[in-house]
Amino acid sequence: MQNTDIQHEAATLLRAARTETGARREHLLEEARLWLELARTNPAAPPEEVPDGTVMRIRTRGGALTVVMEAKEAGTHLYPWTCLGCGDGRKFGGTNRKDAQVEATRHARDCWVLPQSTLNAPARPLSVA
Ligand SMILES: [Zn+2]
Repeated sequence: MQNTDIQHEAATLLRAARTETGARREHLLEEARLWLELARTNPAAPPEEVPDGTVMRIRTRGGALTVVMEAKEAGTHLYPWTCLGCGDGRKFGGTNRKDAQVEATRHARDCWVLPQSTLNAPARPLSVA
C-alpha cells in the first residue's frame, strides 16, 4: 500500500470525525492515528534522504527528521544539526556530540513542521486580489 493511499484513509476518517461526537468520534480519531502511524513506519516507504555525514536521526513531533552530522575541521570533530522539516539548526556545530544530540532532541520535541516529502506542491506567488 502506498503512503498516499494510507494518508487518504486517514484524511477520510478525520473528515468523518468532524461531524461525529462521543465514542464514535474517538474511535474515528484513533483509527486515523493508527493509519498515520502506519504511513510513518511503512516499510514500503522510500528511505528519507539525509545530508552527508549524518550520524544521528531524531524524529520530530510533526514527523520530519532532525539530523546530527559529523564534520572534521582542522583535525577537530564538529557536530552541526539541522531539522529537515523547518530548517532550524546549528550550522557550524559544537565539538561535543552529546550536546548536539540534546539540542537537536529539544528542537524535535517541539517542532510540528511536516516532513518535506509531504510538502511537494510547487510554491505559488501571493495573489494580490
Ligand atoms: Zn524543525
